[in-house]
Amino acid sequence: MQHMTADRTGHTLKALRELVQERNWGQFHSPENLAKSISIEAAELLECFQWGPPEDNSAVRHELADVITYCLLLADKLGLDPHDIVLEKLDITRAKYPIELSHGRSTKHDQF
Ligand SMILES: [Mg+2]
Repeated sequence: MQHMTADRTGHTLKALRELVQERNWGQFHSPENLAKSISIEAAELLECFQWGPPEDNSAVRHELADVITYCLLLADKLGLDPHDIVLEKLDITRAKYPIELSHGRSTKHDQF
């Protein structure tokens, strides 16, 4: 399995931009519509597990790809680097959840 790298993300973004441009779909891709699409696709991903574990992973792969696709499109629309914003949020999460308080615990930070 290949890891997601900046180069691979750039390649994926280029392919996504081409697909959108070729079909003139950019007109539908307001930040609000893209955010709604993330949530809709996340629900479709959840549906794969609605009645138990999925029998095969193909639908999960496709719905997860849909979620990631809309996340990448929204980040692109907002001029955000997906890696930068994930790493930035990781720093925030590290600060909110110090290891000594959160190791092995699912407690929310305001309940420590
Ligand atoms: Mg879908």
